[in-house]
Amino acid sequence: MAFTPLADLFHLFVPRRCGVCGATLVEGEHHFCVRCLMGAPFTDHPSAPYNRLLEHLRESVPVEHAAALLMFPKGSAWRRAVHDFKYRGHWRVARHCGEWLGGALAEGGGFYDVDVVVPIPLHPRKVLHRGYNQADYVARGVAAMLSRPCVSGNLRRVKNNPSQTHKRTSERWENVAGIFAVSRPEEFAGKHILLIDDVVTSGATITSAAEAILRACPGARVSVAAFATARYS
Ligand SMILES: [Zn+2]
Repeated sequence: MAFTPLADLFHLFVPRRCGVCGATLVEGEHHFCVRCLMGAPFTDHPSAPYNRLLEHLRESVPVEHAAALLMFPKGSAWRRAVHDFKYRGHWRVARHCGEWLGGALAEGGGFYDVDVVVPIPLHPRKVLHRGYNQADYVARGVAAMLSRPCVSGNLRRVKNNPSQTHKRTSERWENVAGIFAVSRPEEFAGKHILLIDDVVTSGATITSAAEAILRACPGARVSVAAFATARYS
């Protein structure tokens, strides 16, 4: 960690703040304050093999397991943290949230037979514009905690679909049909793939990616995990 001393010096002058409530962090707190962590809106997914998220996703694609760590609706202060790691360059927070999610999945035990962790890709043009893919960092955190490889680049986004944010559910599903492809299907064949996104809302994007893998890769199985869900607690 070559940059630690410099970062410490920086934080002497610029206090670190909680990504949720904005309070100044004290020593030992990382990205979020203890109060926000204690009040975090946890789901029971990591330890509940049959949960509402899995049920919902299985209506459209046969996924093995599904889990989101947090469930926050519109207006939740936790949305700010995700917004920051999506749009404001806070990739360290995304990685931290990935480790948090991965730790919960490892503890829950349901994801023990995953072979590869794969982030939902952004279209290359969007990566150029934003500078990074937040799901990459969440996935790296999960992979580290599960001691599995994180593979990005094999699942590709072949269509740059418009943002899902302002779309109705029916439009979201039309919007994501056929937007993913697998470059080297043999690499995923026969493997249990854990797909990672930062937030699952309608599930349209992640099930479209799951479909692309299941269609292209013989014998592959797919599970899904996200830092948060907006609906399925
Ligand atoms: Zn806080």
